This record gives sequence, structure tokens and C-alpha cells, in this order.
Amino acid sequence: MSEKDFWNVEMESKSAEQIRELQWQKLETQIQYIYDNSPDFYRPRFDAVGAHPKDIKCFDDFRQLPIMRSKEMDREAQEVSAQRYGHPYGTYLCAPLEDVIHIYSTSGTSGEPSFYTFTEHDLKINDECWARTYWRAGIRPGDTVLHGFGLSMWSAGVPIVRALAAMGARPIAAGAEGGIERMLMFARLTRPTALVGTPSLAEYIIEKCPDILGYPASELGIKTIVVAGAPGAGLEDVRKRITEGFGGAKLFDSSQGAWGLGNVSCDSEQYQGMHVVSPEHCIWTDLVDPDTREPIPLEHGAVGEGLITAFDHQAGPPFRYAFGDMLQLFTEPCSCGAPGWRFKIHGRVDDLLNVKGIKVYPAAVRNVINSFTPRTTGEMRIVLDSPPPAVNPPLKIKVEYGAGLVESEIETLREELVDKLKGRLRFTAAIEMVEPESLERSTLKGKLIEKTYEQAD
Ligand SMILES: [Zn+2]
Repeated sequence: MSEKDFWNVEMESKSAEQIRELQWQKLETQIQYIYDNSPDFYRPRFDAVGAHPKDIKCFDDFRQLPIMRSKEMDREAQEVSAQRYGHPYGTYLCAPLEDVIHIYSTSGTSGEPSFYTFTEHDLKINDECWARTYWRAGIRPGDTVLHGFGLSMWSAGVPIVRALAAMGARPIAAGAEGGIERMLMFARLTRPTALVGTPSLAEYIIEKCPDILGYPASELGIKTIVVAGAPGAGLEDVRKRITEGFGGAKLFDSSQGAWGLGNVSCDSEQYQGMHVVSPEHCIWTDLVDPDTREPIPLEHGAVGEGLITAFDHQAGPPFRYAFGDMLQLFTEPCSCGAPGWRFKIHGRVDDLLNVKGIKVYPAAVRNVINSFTPRTTGEMRIVLDSPPPAVNPPLKIKVEYGAGLVESEIETLREELVDKLKGRLRFTAAIEMVEPESLERSTLKGKLIEKTYEQAD
């Protein structure tokens, strides 16, 4: 007997036409729902462009609607709801507050946190989407899974822990907040076969495991790693370092957005982007031009700013929500055989640097630096002296050289890096080589940018 390919074979193997039909039915209902239940947020936005729900008759009409939600709009809506209704969950809250049974938030380290709300129904979607994601990565009921995301942080914290438990796996909620020593102690004692966390956590474990446990990460027994929260699994060199560091573990990329609507990469030799695993719950791959905000034709290879729309979330449903990532869409079939569309995340719209007309993603810079390991450690920072996106060349970058290099080798490496960045990414870099381990490490998201203008005041 062969094992099933998907967690939910019926939903995950539907044809594009079947999905399209299902999506439209749900979308039509959802448009009416948010219009009726959000008198301070969604309804005025429809009214402002003269679009009554009944006027939206097809996907093309839907795609002509403007961006309706973003982080900035959320912040304002949270303030208004705090004043008007005495809760910070935003005027886009479409369900009665007593039906909201789960809340999580952003960290709140840079200003007030953003809150996300779930009804019981919404949580079931969260659990279902993660089960589909993790099943495709090979995680099965009964597996012990080390959870290394920040527990209080974002949708990857508690929502993933509960989703793993709901699918029958055994999450070990070590959490990034407890630090690397505690996490490795949990790993030593519980012997997980899978790890979920950020790519930088996976790399940090490889680096620290020999010191803390006295043996390499390859002996932890972890066979599957599903990362999220930052590019990494899609970067060839990071991928190589993580899979080798964990002794041939399989590495998958995932992305859940704020509502637990998971997506996951497949086990193809080359990174194929992430498969959308829950097309009947949301549209992940709507694209607009980041400058004009006009819709971009949804063709194979198209690149644009992503908008997410959920079809049946009740509490705080995203609708034409600009979440700030630049995506590339792939509509042609994947070599792995799984149906449906895929996408790659190119970086944050806000992170996109403009070095005298040349568009540069910090993640792409990191990829180049990574390709020089072990002569570099892979750690780097782009140093910005003024707010992005405009940067006057040369672009300043700090790069950690690898252990054991002598001065002349460091200088040669620096010259090679400048040439490689110029050749591959077309910008001129001013590189400062710094000692191994001198840049701060993080168990959360890998930091790529250092802002000197923020420290100045
Ligand atoms: Zn695939």
C-alpha cells in the first residue's frame, strides 16, 4: 500500500478549474460578509470606489479593486477600535468579540504590536493548512517536532504548536525566547526527528551544537527541517549548509502569512518556490506593481507585490491585503508533480534598495556572500547611513571572514566579493571584512541590515 501524497487528498488534488470555481463561490460570499460586518473599515472602502458587492461579478472585477488592507491601515484601524469599541483588534474585526477565542500579535518591539484574531472556525483553517504543509514535508502523526520559532511571536509561535498537535505530531515547544542552550537541551532529551524554525536558527544550531552538546548537529537525529520567516531554504548555499550541517536532513521552505495559510516548497533537486497548499481558503498570488499598485497579469514568472485575500476567515479576514513581500509567480507544472501554483518570495518591498537605479534585495546580497563559505561565515550586514530605498554607491557591507584566514587572504577575498557582487548584482560595494563571530547572532530572523542613522539620535 502506498502512502497518501497529501494530508487532504480530496482538496489538494483538485484541477485548476475546480479550484477556480470553488474560489469564486467562496469569494462572492466573503465579499458580502465583510461588507455587511465591517461598517467602519471594509464597507467604506468599497463605497469609496463605488463598488457594491453585487457589482463584483468575476475575478477581473475583484482584481480591479484597490488594496484594502496593509500594516499601516491596520495600525490606524487598531487605534480607532481601541477608542470606539474598547479593544485593539481593529475595525476590520468582522465577528462578534465573544466569538474570538485566539489572539496573537507581532512582537511590538518597534512600536505597538499588531493583533490578529481567530474564531474557532479560523483556527480550524490554521490547523488544516499547517497539516497540509507539514505532511508534504514528510512530518507524520507520531513524529516529535522541535518548535524553535518565537512562541509569543507572530503566527509561527503558538498557532504552529497547536496545529502540529492537531495533526497528531508531538511538538516540543522549546521556543526561540529561551535561547540556544535551552533549545539544544530540549533536543538532546526529546530526540526530535523534525525541526521547525527560522533558517538563521537552523544555522545557529549547526554553529553552536558542538560547543553546547559536544557533538555536531548532524547527530541530533533531525531528518526534516521546515523553515519560515526569512529567505534561506531557497538560497542554494544556505540550503547546502543547512542540509549538510544536519547530516543530510531534508529542508523545506514554508510561509504562512499572518493567518496560518501555509505554503511549502517541495522535494525537488532545485528550489521550485512554494506550493500554495490551501487554494480553497485564500488567494496568495495576486500581484500588483509596487509603485503604481495596478494589477499585474498573473502569468508564469510574473513578479510583483503580493496581496492576500482569505475566502472564509471570520474574525479579521485579510482582503486585498498588501503584506509587503515581492513575489514571483509560477503557474507551469512543477517537476514534483504536485498540482497548483507556486511562488517565490524575492524580499520585502520595504527592503528593496535602489543603488543609483539598480534594484538590490538584501537577501540576494547574502546569497552571494554565502557562496564564499567557508572563507566567509555567511554572516553579513548591509550598512545604511540614511533611510532606504535610495542608496548612493558604493553600498557598504560588513562581511565576516572565515576562521583561520591570514591578512593577505582576507584582502583577496574582499576583492573577489566586490567583483562577484558587481558581476552578479550589478552594484558597487565597499566591503569591510570583520572577524568571525563579531556580528550579533539571532535565534529569530536573520538580520541583514544595520541602520547607522537610527543609532545617531
Ligand atoms: Zn513541486
